[in-house]
Amino acid sequence: MNLVFTLTQEVQLSHQYIQLIKDECKKHSPNEACGVLVGRIEPGRIVVEKVVPIKNSRPSDRSFEFDPQEHYRAWNLADKEGLDIIGVYHTHPHSQARPSTWDQETMEHDRSLWIIAGIDGIKGYEWDDGVNPVEIIEVS
Ligand SMILES: [Zn+2]
Repeated sequence: MNLVFTLTQEVQLSHQYIQLIKDECKKHSPNEACGVLVGRIEPGRIVVEKVVPIKNSRPSDRSFEFDPQEHYRAWNLADKEGLDIIGVYHTHPHSQARPSTWDQETMEHDRSLWIIAGIDGIKGYEWDDGVNPVEIIEVS
């Protein structure tokens, strides 16, 4: 499976999943929580169908690492439903929803959609010769 990520203008994310990410942020504070975004890519936009939390196997307040088994399970779940893992989310319980230096270095090698929940809300980014913001459209 090879996905081609072109620059996206917006991402559709349901209210329910925005709440889930915020709840995960609180639950795992002060460490970062993380997970994957499952959905589909349409011209100019990404539709997130599911948000799947994944255990942070190296709990830290500066970075995250997916538990490999849970990551694989999420990938399998997406595949069964004919969807793809189109991005990742993680949380910044004590800082702004902006990619840290560590995040930026990781994003450069993972050019999918990145959603970060921080003290100033939830924001979307993708990498294209640098960090580019992606607008999150909240749907019901
Ligand atoms: Zn981060």
